[in-house]
Amino acid sequence: MTQPFTPITKIQFEVDKPLSQLSTFGIGGPARFFIEAQKPEELAGLLKYCHAQKLPFFVIGKGSNCLFDDRGFDGLVILNKIAFCQFEWPTVNVGAGYAFSLLGTQTARKGWAGLEFASGIPGSVGGAIYMNAGASGVETCESLLEVTFVNEHGEFESLKRDQIAFSYRFSTFQERKGVIASAKFLLHPSEEARKKQLGIIDYRTRTQPYSDKSAGCVFRNPESHSAGALIQQCGLKGKRIGSAEVSTMHANFIVNKGGATSKDILGLAEEVKKTVKEKTGIELEMEIRYVPR
Ligand SMILES: Cc1cc2nc3c(=O)[nH]c(=O)nc-3n(C[C@H](O)[C@H](O)[C@H](O)COP(=O)(O)OP(=O)(O)OC[C@H]3O[C@@H](n4cnc5c(N)ncnc54)[C@H](O)[C@@H]3O)c2cc1C
Repeated sequence: MTQPFTPITKIQFEVDKPLSQLSTFGIGGPARFFIEAQKPEELAGLLKYCHAQKLPFFVIGKGSNCLFDDRGFDGLVILNKIAFCQFEWPTVNVGAGYAFSLLGTQTARKGWAGLEFASGIPGSVGGAIYMNAGASGVETCESLLEVTFVNEHGEFESLKRDQIAFSYRFSTFQERKGVIASAKFLLHPSEEARKKQLGIIDYRTRTQPYSDKSAGCVFRNPESHSAGALIQQCGLKGKRIGSAEVSTMHANFIVNKGGATSKDILGLAEEVKKTVKEKTGIELEMEIRYVPR
């Protein structure tokens, strides 16, 4: 269905875009304004505009780590579609909207190692850097060389890896306003890369609920513990609030079994946190980004 457009400026925004369409949870009310950015220059223009108009903005890659509120977002949602990809051995220069999983598969197929773990992570390159996504003991920052960032004034910044702080599911970008436009990764040769990547995909599909709507692991792993194992020990697999369910396959996933609301997901996450705290004394912390109105 074609959405109405509003002529508030030379930039044409779509209005009332359902965020449920942009989130792997399939949850979220309307974004007041919505636009796709295909090029870094478009992104810069949008951020300049938001700054001048004092318009709150939120950028989405693949929406695979976000829980949008049922009431939507009262500002501009920018969908990052900057999706070029240039392989220049031993580096790959890639737009932040490029699929991270595809990048992991493509590099492994070439016998380039370092991003095999990305295969099966349904996010964008920008989202993976922002979250410092990781799996199989490897994190995004490990093969990252540099990032092109558009700051809140719409200015480009070129940041080398050592100018960015990373830790477990954290990057400096979480403390800054702006958007990652592109990144360069440095890889190394390995005859084992493809085999390793295929093993990772096989393991994921056997252990994670890929056929359900989710946003990946709900909680960060506490120091020396697995959040999933703690939740399972507490007997919470299969627990439901409304249509939100603690996955019966992987306890650190909450899945939308059809028609779940953000309230259902948040309520169930709160219940899980409370039970784990009571039974084990360990405080769980959300990994999923909840985006309020
Ligand atoms: C089935 C499944 C499996 C998963 N497995 C893993 C896993 O193994 N490891 C793991 O770490 N994660 C995993 N995830 C979570 C998720 O895929 C990752 O966190 C991913 O990196 C998020 O990328 P995204 O583009 O979807 O981010 P989004 O959900 O779109 O956004 C997440 C956050 O990043 C910000 N962001 C996105 N793009 C940009 C940008 N260009 N510039 C600045 N900020 C940006 C957003 O504003 C938001 O705050 C999984 C999710 C699912 C559904």
